[in-house]
Amino acid sequence: MKHTQLTDDLQEQASLYAAGAMTESEREQYSRHLEEDGCAVCRSEVTELQSSISLLAFSLPSSSPSPSVKARLMQQAQSARPAMLRPQTRLRWFDWITAAVAVASIAIAFVVTRTNVELRRTTAQLNSRVTELEGELAEERRNLVALTRPSVRVVELAGQGSNMQARGKMYWDQESKRTIFYVYDLPEAPSDKTYQLWFVTKAGEKVSADVFNTDANGGYRVEIPVPDASTLAAAAVTTEPLGGSPQPTGGFALLGMM
Ligand SMILES: [Zn+2]
Repeated sequence: MKHTQLTDDLQEQASLYAAGAMTESEREQYSRHLEEDGCAVCRSEVTELQSSISLLAFSLPSSSPSPSVKARLMQQAQSARPAMLRPQTRLRWFDWITAAVAVASIAIAFVVTRTNVELRRTTAQLNSRVTELEGELAEERRNLVALTRPSVRVVELAGQGSNMQARGKMYWDQESKRTIFYVYDLPEAPSDKTYQLWFVTKAGEKVSADVFNTDANGGYRVEIPVPDASTLAAAAVTTEPLGGSPQPTGGFALLGMM
């Protein structure tokens, strides 16, 4: 069976294999999986771990292995004991060194595994942040292009009455007959009120263009279609009952001449 994705269990298997910490039968079975099944996921993990182990063997700080690894080490130490009790001194030393190297490799393999998992998580997080930022950048570019086209006229709206600090800006593309409308420093309307944007024609007709409220910073942005520029005299924002009105009834919040 080939695996399609690396799980924590598979990573543990690969670590034990790379560190030479599997029993003989586990090792045989795992080798078959790598070679006969040709599982690319496990193979690349083993290769990566083996090279990491040899690279990092002498440079990593000591780390405490997980309980399952500790249990595995105890088991290994027990099975190694009879060999170490053999009378041949050389062999005994050799076994000791082998056991010590195995213990060190397993500890290193697990540090490497943990570091790998963390790095992968960080990479995934950074990738999604990059995608997010690319989206924002693309939107800013579209805005910039829309705002700086030669056919764009800028109409300023000034704060009125108790909202003298408020400002509005309309970037009006006469070619596409669309406008991007920005509002700054206009306090949120009370919960039973709303703001309404109107276009006033040269004939004095008031056409509702948008019903909105500002955010906590007094800001708002909308992109809307606009009627033919040549017929318009002014743009205004009034305060209206919630849901908006068919014709303006409240006081001016913003006003600008076309
Ligand atoms: Zn596999």
